Amino acid sequence: MSETARPKGGVDLQRRDMPTQDAAARVHNFEEVALGYTVELAMAEARRCLDCKRPNCVTGCPVSVNIPGFIRELAAGNLEGARAAIRETNLLPAVCGRVCPQEHQCEALCNLNKRGASVAIGRLERFVADWCALHEVVGAQTAPAEPVAASGKSVGIVGSGPAGLACASDLLKQGHAVTIYEALDEPGGVLIYGIPEFRLPKDIVRREIGEIRRMGAQIICDFLVGRTATLAELREEHDALFIATGAGLPWFLDIPGEDLVGVMSANEYLTRVNLLRAYDKRANTPVPKPRRVAVIGAGNVAMDAARTAKRLGAREVSIVYRRSRAEAPARHEELEHAEEEGIRFQFLTQPVEYLGNDEGRLTALRCRRMELGEPDERGRPRPVEVADSEFDIPVDLAILAIGQSPNPMIKDTTPEIEVSRRGTLVVEPETLATNLPGVFAGGDAVTGQATVILAMGAGRTAAAGIAAWLSQAT
Ligand code: FAD
Ligand code: SF4
Repeated sequence: MSETARPKGGVDLQRRDMPTQDAAARVHNFEEVALGYTVELAMAEARRCLDCKRPNCVTGCPVSVNIPGFIRELAAGNLEGARAAIRETNLLPAVCGRVCPQEHQCEALCNLNKRGASVAIGRLERFVADWCALHEVVGAQTAPAEPVAASGKSVGIVGSGPAGLACASDLLKQGHAVTIYEALDEPGGVLIYGIPEFRLPKDIVRREIGEIRRMGAQIICDFLVGRTATLAELREEHDALFIATGAGLPWFLDIPGEDLVGVMSANEYLTRVNLLRAYDKRANTPVPKPRRVAVIGAGNVAMDAARTAKRLGAREVSIVYRRSRAEAPARHEELEHAEEEGIRFQFLTQPVEYLGNDEGRLTALRCRRMELGEPDERGRPRPVEVADSEFDIPVDLAILAIGQSPNPMIKDTTPEIEVSRRGTLVVEPETLATNLPGVFAGGDAVTGQATVILAMGAGRTAAAGIAAWLSQAT
């Protein structure tokens, strides 16, 4: 094989499956669904990598993880070396290995993908991170070999999701002091309050955030920028600021009946369950536990809400989506897991009204059938209504998961900051600088709801922009 160093015995097109909890059992618990590779499975999968001279997979990763490098170390049995190779650019490997949409990123460009079976890069990344945590290979690569001299500069970061954490990590490595301000009582952003325990156990997020604390980040929780202090006041305290406040404002359909009891956003539903532990009887957090649930939307948020409702005891849970399965934006694995768990899918279906009873409670979702038409500006087929196709789905709870915008708190309390018509912060693309001197922004607050790894990539870009700014500032 001229282009590659491995494998010696020919190309192995058998991608190793990851063991999962049985569907019938897992719908009754909140434990993690995907159980992770065993050492044997991970080694076998790692040996499938062709170690290509031109590794396209790396270009598919928004933070350019050294994929062939870490897989090479793993295949050689050097797990610590594999972890070090990953952490050169990715500080949350156990998280990314679980939630990245790999099929559209690194794995889509793996040369074996053309032959139908890309290397399971995300699963291997997860395996390396989990194995090292289990064997307490902690922090070894976090601290730089030579302690970096303190720069004397301080940076304030608003928001502790993946964008804020990635920015913090890069700035700390350069000797800058970092303080993260978080509105909620625990850091992590959507990783903590959005993505459910059965997909991303909170202890894993806490473990990875622990490493950033060890690097020296000060994290101040219950601090709502715009209320506890204004952005201008924080700017006085720090040499630069990074705004990474995410996109936590849910969209609604704006159709009749949206004010009925029993219509809520996925954001509120998942926050109650995840952050306030509504699934735990001892937590005493109120959360609706209806018999019939419809979740509107077909992204990751919708799958999470539907699968959570199932676990909380709902008999019938439907996903209602106006396009077809092929256009559903959720990760493939989440869609498959939802199907296995008995979630029903109403594709090509658009809700047009919520119906209620005399007490103002939701009783049904009135929908119309759709068909696919010409592509829209993003290239996706436009859903077109089918005439006279109305029908009702009886439900007690409708959960909206059709998208989110940035919360307007920063914009409302800092009117001089430039925002787009969509409410996203406007930045200079190379450095992520806003129009306010020394104030940078990135992640979902700039792009609208995207992905964990894109937010982390933005955090790293901003850290580079901030470092350049600090070097010029007197
Ligand atoms: P966030 O993670 O939203 O973090 C922003 C933080 O800022 C929050 O902690 C918030 O409390 C804080 N904050 C906001 N305003 C203020 C303020 N004024 N003062 C102080 N703090 C403030 N992506 C994937 O890649 N894969 C998935 O499987 C996936 N599943 C998802 C499932 C759900 C339910 C949701 C909601 C999102 C999912 N995403 C997924 C998207 C992904 O989580 C986000 O794109 C990512 O978290 C964005 O990171 P961020 O740092 O920009 O913002
Ligand atoms: Fe793939 Fe995500 Fe890992 Fe990058 S961080 S290599 S995209 S799984």
